[in-house]
Amino acid sequence: MTDLSGKTALVTGSTSGIGEAIARALAAQGADIVLNGFGEEAAIARLKTGLAEEHGVKVVYDGADMSRPAAIETMMKKAEAEFGAVDILVNNAGIQHTANLEDFPAERWDAVIAINLSSAFHTTHHALPAMKRRGWGRILNVASAHGLVASVQKSAYVAAKHGIVGLTKVTALETARDGITANAICPGWVLTPLVQKQIDALAERESLTAAAAREKLIGEKMPSGEPVTPEQIGAFAVFLCSPAAERITGAALPIDGGWTAQ
Ligand code: NAD
Repeated sequence: MTDLSGKTALVTGSTSGIGEAIARALAAQGADIVLNGFGEEAAIARLKTGLAEEHGVKVVYDGADMSRPAAIETMMKKAEAEFGAVDILVNNAGIQHTANLEDFPAERWDAVIAINLSSAFHTTHHALPAMKRRGWGRILNVASAHGLVASVQKSAYVAAKHGIVGLTKVTALETARDGITANAICPGWVLTPLVQKQIDALAERESLTAAAAREKLIGEKMPSGEPVTPEQIGAFAVFLCSPAAERITGAALPIDGGWTAQ
């Protein structure tokens, strides 16, 4: 049990997958939550009230598009006005596009870099002054195994994820004496909509059943043969906010079933 009551966590891309699981895990420890991400209005409203009722915390939603710096600034300022500070910043929003370099559309490159990398610069830039004032902060950048190693057809994603690992290190160095830690979480495969698209594409390309495609995709990279669950990443995020993790900063931490040990 890590008591996060009185803290506010802003999780980008928390209307789905890993971000939603991290928001749930932090709310379960008492943190107020700023949700962000796209989705159906009714589903987001259900998530928002469900979290608030289940955990007795305050939950707000801001639909800022993480590819737009002005929208990010507005979201960060609104969160600070409402809660005094964003104490826990989770940079999680992300997209994927796969193609060989010579076929990779420049517009998709720009979008992946903006959402998966530059957005974390903008949120961190706006969050740090209040964290420094309070003398406490946790920045969790959801990178990927692809922040540490590469795969074919993922030039923009791998560049963005390696970039966010670098951003994490600089953030950690610049805040090392301010009670703030910054770490990159590097998951292997997690079965979320982002990965389901890749499983579906593999099944279609190689005429495989859904189960065979899933097994092939995961087994190819993860010695465990089993994916990481969103809940495991949520629990890891809670640990990184706990007093036991106070001296962990500037680290790129794999949670990948052995993917990057190879
Ligand atoms: P997901 O598709 O389930 O969720 C992505 C979230 O980001 C959604 O809430 C979506 O609305 C939001 N989002 C997308 N574009 C946005 C934008 N422009 N502005 C605001 N929000 C936006 O994907 P996921 O698998 O949960 O991925 C979350 C993060 O984890 C990503 O950064 C991804 O790269 C990373 N990751 C995922 C895996 C995996 O196997 N699923 C592995 C390693 C890292």
